[in-house]
Amino acid sequence: MAMRYVVVSGGVLSGLGKGVTASSIGVLLKSAGLRVTAIKIDPYLNSDAGTMSPFEHGEVFVLDDGGEVDLDLGNYERFLDVCLTRENNITTGKVYAKVIEAERRGDYLGKTVQVVPHITDTVQDWIEEVSHYPSDGLDGSPDVCVIELGGTVGDIESAPFVEALRQFQFRVGVDNICFVHVSLIPVIGVVGEQKTKPTQHTVKELRGLGITPDLLVCRSETPLTDDVKSKLALFCHVDPSAVISAHDVSNLYRVPLLLEQQGVSQLLSQKLGFDIPANRPLLDEWEEMAERIDGISEDIHIAVVGKYTGLVDSYLSVIKALQHASFEVGRKLVIDWIEATDLEKSSDNSAWKSLRSADGVLVPGGFGDRGIEGKILAANYARTTNKPYLGVCLGLQVAVVEFCRNVLGWEGANSTEFDEQTPHPVIVFMPEISKSHLGGTMRLGSRPTIFQVEQSNIRTLYGDSLHVDERHRHRYEVNPDCVDAIESKGLKFVGKDETGQRCEIFELEDHPYFVGTQYHPEFKTRPNRPSPPFLGLLEAAAKQ
Ligand code: GLN
Repeated sequence: MAMRYVVVSGGVLSGLGKGVTASSIGVLLKSAGLRVTAIKIDPYLNSDAGTMSPFEHGEVFVLDDGGEVDLDLGNYERFLDVCLTRENNITTGKVYAKVIEAERRGDYLGKTVQVVPHITDTVQDWIEEVSHYPSDGLDGSPDVCVIELGGTVGDIESAPFVEALRQFQFRVGVDNICFVHVSLIPVIGVVGEQKTKPTQHTVKELRGLGITPDLLVCRSETPLTDDVKSKLALFCHVDPSAVISAHDVSNLYRVPLLLEQQGVSQLLSQKLGFDIPANRPLLDEWEEMAERIDGISEDIHIAVVGKYTGLVDSYLSVIKALQHASFEVGRKLVIDWIEATDLEKSSDNSAWKSLRSADGVLVPGGFGDRGIEGKILAANYARTTNKPYLGVCLGLQVAVVEFCRNVLGWEGANSTEFDEQTPHPVIVFMPEISKSHLGGTMRLGSRPTIFQVEQSNIRTLYGDSLHVDERHRHRYEVNPDCVDAIESKGLKFVGKDETGQRCEIFELEDHPYFVGTQYHPEFKTRPNRPSPPFLGLLEAAAKQ
């Protein structure tokens, strides 16, 4: 069977939920028994997301292979339960680098190297190749690849990709590709009229570039009226049944169901030629999940002490991991965002009030010294008041610093990331990594953690396995010379890397839940399979 493609583009403005639409379409295809993979195209010039500020662009998502990629790949992994590679994220930077390298090698045999055809061909070759990578752990090729085009159609940046995709429909055959365009229907005026003009314009733009959408997914607050649907069909050259209302729903898990109710699976099956089985247990699972979440009423408060608390996207996977765990314990998650520097300013302000009243505390990963002392105060508060605590990466490091300062009495203990002259360097730079280049020099991706003890809370959470594979993104680590002293006072490093040198997990004795992980467990959380360290935090916070 030929590979099928579903291309999801967006118009009018960014942040419409194109990623969620693309992932939800993937869920529908998967529920029809197809093997699904995904590619995200990011038209920026960075070669990857590794050097981009989470403050500006949202979180940097990390893959098993160490790829630092756009957070939408996290959406795909969670929705489709797949494991993607760095090649599944195409950026302008990567494509140009490849073409320029080929030009330097002399591959183009004296020809003038141009956007069309050289860049556009490279994009198409890339998509074709990567779409065949199995991402579901099975052998052989997937059946269908969902491609999300980042940015908004009409942008200068995305033009070469739109052109590549236009050509691609003829390369793979028009029956093997389906174009989905996501747009916005704003509501204006006292009567709340749904306005179609922005969508008319973006479809006109797309068609001007040679792509006619097969499906129009319209984001709106309320369901599209029939009149609006007919009008859109008329002006946008799509079948009336292919105008889909993607209005606000009570929770994210309803989005695939919402699309299903409007016949999206049928439309895709007609266009791409596949059968839909009568039984679709995956959809039942999503339905059950959506129902269960809507039925949860009792709140649970988790204080997240971080630095980019102005843009929640910068902690997207952490939020997802907390949510998945909260569903499991049957509580409704409320995140109390605490700007770490606010904890430093006074001991009696709203930040401290939130911290004190929270059911649990989480210190996520981070870089740079701003807010470090505030995070140390948060770790101290959780440790000394028996408040459940999870420290992820930097969150582990600050808890170790706190413990050394206040339990071992090592005054001025610190990470050399923040104080190179510290008398007690308890967190140190990993020697084999170069300090001069920031791009791609970290300990990245999936590495094994071996449990060091027969019995521990966190090992039980991981189903008593001998080892776990989790994803990393860090440069510093616990100083091996300090481990004995720290452990002698009860902070045990119950998980280490395969050399036994690197500390991966700590757990504090005689505390309801005080756990740190050097890795980022949030990158592998799944809706029905919450990340174990997060589940432990939520269970302890809910006193279960
Ligand atoms: N800045 C710390 C390090 O490089 C922590 C990194 C992180 O939290 N991802 O080790």
